[in-house]
Amino acid sequence: MECPEVRRCLWEYLDQELGAEEAATVQAHLIDCGHCRPAYRCDRALLALLGRCAASRPGAPQGLYRAVRIRLSP
Ligand SMILES: [Zn+2]
Repeated sequence: MECPEVRRCLWEYLDQELGAEEAATVQAHLIDCGHCRPAYRCDRALLALLGRCAASRPGAPQGLYRAVRIRLSP
């Protein structure tokens, strides 16, 4: 697997949405590749941060709900 392909499926890898074989290929690439590993660590950190934010602030602000509803209404 080449770098661009690995970068494209990093989020799927982090979300554990890849098949076992593909995940193993990505994992092996990340161990060897000095270019993709920092991108992986950055995405993983972002995902962890988003997870913490979601856990500490359940639900979106009322203003956001209203703004989305207004935009979605015909
Ligand atoms: Zn790479």
